[in-house]
Amino acid sequence: MKETSDILIVGAGIVGIATALELQKTNSALTITVIEKEKYSSCHQSGNNSGVVHAGIYYEPESLKAKFCSQGLKATEKFCKEHNLPYNKVGKLIVATNEDEVLRLKKLEERAKANGIVVEIINKAELRKLEPNINGLQALYSPNTAITDYKQIVFKMEEIFKSNGGVIYYEEKVISGKENDNCVVVKTNKRTIECSKVINCAGLHSDKIVESFGCNPNYKIIPFRGEFFRLNNQPNDLVKHLIYPVPNPERPFLGVHLTPKIQGGFTVGPNAVLAFKREGYKLTNFNFKEFIDTIFYKGFWIMLWNNKKSAVSELIDSISKLAYLKRVNKYCSQIKLNDLGHYPAGVRAQAVSLNGKIIDDFLFIETKRCLHIGNAPSPAATSSIPIAKYIVNKININ
Ligand SMILES: Cc1cc2nc3c(=O)[nH]c(=O)nc-3n(C[C@H](O)[C@H](O)[C@H](O)COP(=O)(O)OP(=O)(O)OC[C@H]3O[C@@H](n4cnc5c(N)ncnc54)[C@H](O)[C@@H]3O)c2cc1C
Repeated sequence: MKETSDILIVGAGIVGIATALELQKTNSALTITVIEKEKYSSCHQSGNNSGVVHAGIYYEPESLKAKFCSQGLKATEKFCKEHNLPYNKVGKLIVATNEDEVLRLKKLEERAKANGIVVEIINKAELRKLEPNINGLQALYSPNTAITDYKQIVFKMEEIFKSNGGVIYYEEKVISGKENDNCVVVKTNKRTIECSKVINCAGLHSDKIVESFGCNPNYKIIPFRGEFFRLNNQPNDLVKHLIYPVPNPERPFLGVHLTPKIQGGFTVGPNAVLAFKREGYKLTNFNFKEFIDTIFYKGFWIMLWNNKKSAVSELIDSISKLAYLKRVNKYCSQIKLNDLGHYPAGVRAQAVSLNGKIIDDFLFIETKRCLHIGNAPSPAATSSIPIAKYIVNKININ
């Protein structure tokens, strides 16, 4: 018998599950099916991240990131409170350690204010008072930045979705889709499902899904591994806030930060190293087919050329723990080499356009019956609830 579903969602990460739940809340009569290739949800980005609920400081004013992040902070706090999930408004300090960074901090303050985010610049003495173990000339203080456990959020959303009749097939991979005037026929490795609309939330594989649905994505996902260390041998009160460096304008990511974890303890990280496999959690992970696919992409080489300095230094920091430590010691000198213990890495799905541009904002690609989320890097975990609302509005289910 032919299987049908009103909506089919590819991927049970935080974006896919938040969207499934939002659709169900909007129209409880809809049949919604989520297909997830792993044994359980949030196996990839949503379960391997820093756990920071961002306030929305960094993002280009008027961008989707700026809008969804600040809405997402409030929505995430509300969801955690409603469902008794861990959420701690620890606040964040972005620490300038030299004069050049002091200037950049001022620009960051202006941007945060343009985005309507509460921030305040504090001086060296105030920083020392707040964080005696942190060295800096100035810091940008964001009182509302928080920490949580995104895995627990996904599990809770999933539980609500399933208890209200939503269906999730695990260990099942979407292979292709064919869109016609009346429906989309989706093939997985286990079945064929006919549906009215498809939402692609496949993260590290979003471009491959676009291709397998017969469209040209005009971008490629380039995987960037983010390596962390757990801090050993340090006191519980090493820091009270999230400690971030001032972002380097030559690098697209936020920099190695010191993060109090919601379960206790601290991590430092993540760096941003080019991975040789989309799900390449270790330096030695290599996938020949994916590697060839990447190196035949013109945009990859342009991106690499434009970011050659940071690509090399990120690789060095990945190979040498000592080089990595130097980045942390810039703002916290009491961390030593033997304090850096094992902690699992994450891999970011970063969309890169044909002209080598690292696509900064969230990206959506629409056809009549499909909506592909082409780029959902950080802060997409923070922003998942507003992203889900945006998708529900966009796909027009009624
Ligand atoms: C190191 C790191 C640190 C980060 N820190 C933060 C942070 O502190 N705060 C923040 O807001 N964001 C952070 N992010 C970003 C955030 O984690 C991601 O933006 C977010 O999790 C993206 O969610 P997603 O659902 O789009 O993707 P994913 O969580 O990757 O989910 C995609 C899912 O699709 C499935 N899938 C793929 N292909 C198929 C297929 N063919 N068939 C079926 N299923 C398929 C995958 O198995 C996966 O489960 C971080 C990311 C990383 C990697």
